[in-house]
Amino acid sequence: RAKDTGGGRVEVYEAHMHADVVRRLDMASDLQRAIAREELQLQYQPIVELATSRVTGAEALIRWRRGDEAVSPRAFLAVAEDSGLIVALGEWVLRKVCQQGAAWRDASWDVGVSVNIALRQLNAPHFPAQVAAALAESGLPPSALTIELSERMLVEDAGLIADRLAELHDLGVKLAIDDFGTGYASLAHLRQLPADIIKIDPSFISGLGQDPVLAMLTKTIVQVGRDLGMQVVAEGIEQPRQLAELREMGCGYGQGFLVARPMAAPGVEALIRTGVGEQVSRTGSAPDVN
Ligand code: C2E
Ligand code: MG
Ligand code: MG
Ligand code: MG
Repeated sequence: RAKDTGGGRVEVYEAHMHADVVRRLDMASDLQRAIAREELQLQYQPIVELATSRVTGAEALIRWRRGDEAVSPRAFLAVAEDSGLIVALGEWVLRKVCQQGAAWRDASWDVGVSVNIALRQLNAPHFPAQVAAALAESGLPPSALTIELSERMLVEDAGLIADRLAELHDLGVKLAIDDFGTGYASLAHLRQLPADIIKIDPSFISGLGQDPVLAMLTKTIVQVGRDLGMQVVAEGIEQPRQLAELREMGCGYGQGFLVARPMAAPGVEALIRTGVGEQVSRTGSAPDVN
């Protein structure tokens, strides 16, 4: 279609598209090699119970150093999803996360692990079997694994997704709806999902303490989640006033740079032992670790 208009502009446009395709292919082949060599890393971001400041779990977040550059996860995950590499990458992540969770539980820490899943992984027919295998190999109890699915995925193919979620639910893992409030799932829709956890998107949390409308919306999500028997996690807590407001509205759990940044596993272990910092801890003293 563009060809009809003729002229140099089209060539420039095509050259630009070409460069983008090459860049993505190049990234895909580097990524494939990095996966094969196990050059990717997982960081873990602690999740705390807001009433006690106790670390109750940690979310695995993938990291890739490509030469000197730390590539943004969103950028390489998009390439991984388009190329299909996400399936192999996701399986590796799942295994690692289950092993890490099992190691923490072997140390007698009562913490869970959370893993993010892309739509293409969820749609792979063997995905539930992959999850079951990762649990069995590691010995992690299913209830200690949370699978996070972005709210935006849930509207893609509602029938298929519902079947998938039911299969996963039957394995005994927990299901979390990530980025809640950014997609099209309504609060009424929540009732039909076999979800255990809602993660409120940072775009709500960032306005707490200054925007009354966002505060009201957040409070409503917290209440509906609680009425449905779900755990509610606030994501992206950066400011003490946001934390204070979340506590006041009875939000159960929180995660964000104020609480703890994503870090390597030993950092999480230290926080499980000593508790999170004073600006987060309600009493100013480190909570007990059983
Ligand atoms: P997400 O699951 O919603 O993860 C939360 C993101 O917010 C992470 O970004 C985290 O580093 C960041 N974050 C946490 N606390 C704060 C805060 O207080 N302020 C701000 N500004 N950001 C905060 P990250 O690590 O770049 O990951 C981006 C997204 O990539 C994730 O969003 C998730 O959807 C996806 N992702 C990450 N790891 C994996 C993975 O192993 N597999 C899959 N399929 N997706 C992954
Ligand atoms: Mg997540
Ligand atoms: Mg999120
Ligand atoms: Mg997010």
